[in-house]
Amino acid sequence: MILAVSLSKNLLSPADGYRGRFAPSPTGPLHAGSLVAALGSWLDARKNGGQWLLRMEDLDTPRCIPGVDQLIQAQLLACGLYWDGEITYQSQRHDLYQRALERLNTLKLVYPCNCSRQSIANALAQRGIKNPRHQEMIYPGTCRPAELSVNSPEFIETPNTAWRIALPPNCHIEFTDLSLGQQSQDLNTDVGDFVLHRSDGLFTYQLAVVVDDAEQNITHIVRGEDLLSNTARQIHLQNILGYSTPHYRHLPLVLDEYGEKLSKQTLATQIHTQDEKSTLTELRKAAKHLRLRGLPDGENITIAEWLLAATHAW
Ligand code: GLU
Repeated sequence: MILAVSLSKNLLSPADGYRGRFAPSPTGPLHAGSLVAALGSWLDARKNGGQWLLRMEDLDTPRCIPGVDQLIQAQLLACGLYWDGEITYQSQRHDLYQRALERLNTLKLVYPCNCSRQSIANALAQRGIKNPRHQEMIYPGTCRPAELSVNSPEFIETPNTAWRIALPPNCHIEFTDLSLGQQSQDLNTDVGDFVLHRSDGLFTYQLAVVVDDAEQNITHIVRGEDLLSNTARQIHLQNILGYSTPHYRHLPLVLDEYGEKLSKQTLATQIHTQDEKSTLTELRKAAKHLRLRGLPDGENITIAEWLLAATHAW
């Protein structure tokens, strides 16, 4: 089957009812960068009279730190960023991801792969392609069968085997980012057949986030710009799984003194929420980063009052 995907997506209209979300990975407490994503997505939801859900993206269990989900919740509450409904945990939703993968199997859109990182690097080197360090390697298609087929029902459980999406030959994705404007990516040349289920048995972020956003009827995704390059992959998965594509808005990243994105891996310091004054200072820094203007800067203001003013300014 050839799926020609070259589309400008039909996006959901605001009349569908706004549902936003914040989806931290509990690999470390919130830092200045994650607070920008939390605040930006919260303000966008509240300004639009929408809902704001909290999802713990704790799929990559080896990287998650026990108790950090609680810490993140406490930080959000201290900031007055209350969420709607129950918190979802990706670690409890394997069945949903498994069903999505089974559907893609039925559509002959996945195949098993036993390549190691090293063998992919070697295959690329043989073609004269040297990948810069820390950059994702464009999968050269080593394990992709000439003819795709439906794998046996136990296919997901095959030990030490990853499962990759088989991209159609023409897979150019276009979308409009609400902050950054028109975006496009050719998945074959920029990414290659990407992994949906890892050889260590874990479902990948790309699959899980798409299933969850669809299953939770998320209409607006507001998140850091570091995730912009994942969006085309996610839209492709939405297309083939028959899901609608939400609106996307990517927010400016907070960089450290070396120009690197703040991240839990580089041990960015957690935001200070021990008292209302420190919390307000963190919120004000985040708002400045989001270029919100005209916010009250006096001492005698509660967090709730400040958030209300920020919602108007958004
Ligand atoms: N869990 C991802 C992160 O913490 C965010 C995923 C998303 O917003 O799509 O970077």
